[in-house]
Amino acid sequence: MTGYRDHEEQKTMVPLATSLVKFTHCEKDIYSSFVPQKCPICGGNPVSSWDVEQAPITIPCPFSNAHSEKCCFVLKPTQGRFIGEYDGFSDLHVGITSSKGIVHHYNESGIHKDSTGWEQCVSVPLVPPDQYALIHQWDSYLEEISSAGKWLSYRYDEQNHNCYTFALTFINSLLHLQGMKTFSKDEFTEKFVLPRTRRASKYITLCHQVTKNAFYITDQFRNSILG
Ligand SMILES: [Zn+2]
Repeated sequence: MTGYRDHEEQKTMVPLATSLVKFTHCEKDIYSSFVPQKCPICGGNPVSSWDVEQAPITIPCPFSNAHSEKCCFVLKPTQGRFIGEYDGFSDLHVGITSSKGIVHHYNESGIHKDSTGWEQCVSVPLVPPDQYALIHQWDSYLEEISSAGKWLSYRYDEQNHNCYTFALTFINSLLHLQGMKTFSKDEFTEKFVLPRTRRASKYITLCHQVTKNAFYITDQFRNSILG
């Protein structure tokens, strides 16, 4: 699957902020890795003027560890990690987690079942946590689909028969079994994947900015996806 691009810091491979907070002062939104004692714009104490609107909030990290997620669609860079390594262009790779956090995925060498390597992912939960019957059956469905001949290595095609085809085939098989409407690749991407990758991309951009300049000051992001 091809990469997405939504941020500008492409080549800087500097250590990145591990946590992000946002506070409001001088009518700007200010992002940082901690709440400072002095506002970087006016030098005043940002705490003294906080009201509910301006109270600092922690920006939730959009990444999760696939090995602690059950029954999810998961996505990561084919090489390396999102934070500090992903350049916004490179290919992404997707898989499906079992109920025990084993990632089943398909590439040019066939089906793989990974218990490590997917620690920093964008994940899309596929099953509500109270659907015990489905979760109970999940791993056997996943094993069944994974062992099908159509996922042999020689059938792999980067454009038309790839990791995404495998993941979506599994998802659509389950939807079909439940008598529900299936998704085309575009529909699934649009509805479930893009909102999360956009959020991830903005988070990476903020991490880069905060790492480079200690603060990222904006009036653009108010009421945006990052809250
Ligand atoms: Zn200020």
